[in-house]
Amino acid sequence: MLEITDLTANYSGIQALRGVSLSVKQGEMVALIGPNGAGKSTLLNCVSAQVLPASGSIKLDGKEMIGQNAWTVSRAGLLQVPEGRQVFAEMTVLENLQLGGTALRSRAATYPLKRVLTLFPILDERRQQLAGSLSGGQQQMLAIGRALMGGPRLLLLDEPSLGLAPLVVKQVFATLRALNQEGLTILLIEQNAKQALEVTSRAYVIEQGRIVHAGPSSELANDPEIEAHYLGQGGSND
Ligand code: ATP
Repeated sequence: MLEITDLTANYSGIQALRGVSLSVKQGEMVALIGPNGAGKSTLLNCVSAQVLPASGSIKLDGKEMIGQNAWTVSRAGLLQVPEGRQVFAEMTVLENLQLGGTALRSRAATYPLKRVLTLFPILDERRQQLAGSLSGGQQQMLAIGRALMGGPRLLLLDEPSLGLAPLVVKQVFATLRALNQEGLTILLIEQNAKQALEVTSRAYVIEQGRIVHAGPSSELANDPEIEAHYLGQGGSND
């Protein structure tokens, strides 16, 4: 579904991506893990057209997406749950969800409001509450629900575990796994390598803008080198 080839991206002299190739098949849940500053968010922001790559290719179902604007990319069903959730704090839970639905345009709502509220009963209970009054975990659920309202073909998540307590992280990841088991294709970007490898089937490891490992998540989780670098105290929230 998603085919990224030889992608490079720079920020005024800083080479953030140095020839990254990565793919996600329909129905897969794939992780991209790596340390701080490795280029994870840059990659995701290139896919969602918020950062313009310097070279390379990003194809969705064979169609080149580089050069399209962010609105067109989201209407094509590439929907991002941003780092830090970025819910609209002064709007209600319901208003945040309805805004997510504007990415749909003429496409069918694969996750209509009723389904999102059933998936996240806490959002249903708090639908008239301001989003800023929710806990971090509830805001993460809202950010995911908002993206679902836009009818994702591929859901992109930027560090959904960031700043959340271990128990809440488990709940968020269990939700993502359930969504994937229902058929949703997911690309998950995480510093929390341990849990990301537990919930995904395949993973890539990025370091200094380059993919340095790739393979089935279970194999990477048991690789002594990966374990030493990413599965110890660094990169894990629990
Ligand atoms: P983190 O987990 O900290 O978000 P990351 O793996 O997502 O890290 P990126 O945010 O993609 O990494 O950053 C990759 C490199 O690009 C880093 O050296 C970072 O300092 C730099 N960078 C990222 N955004 C910008 C920006 N807007 N302007 C200048 N440099 C940037």
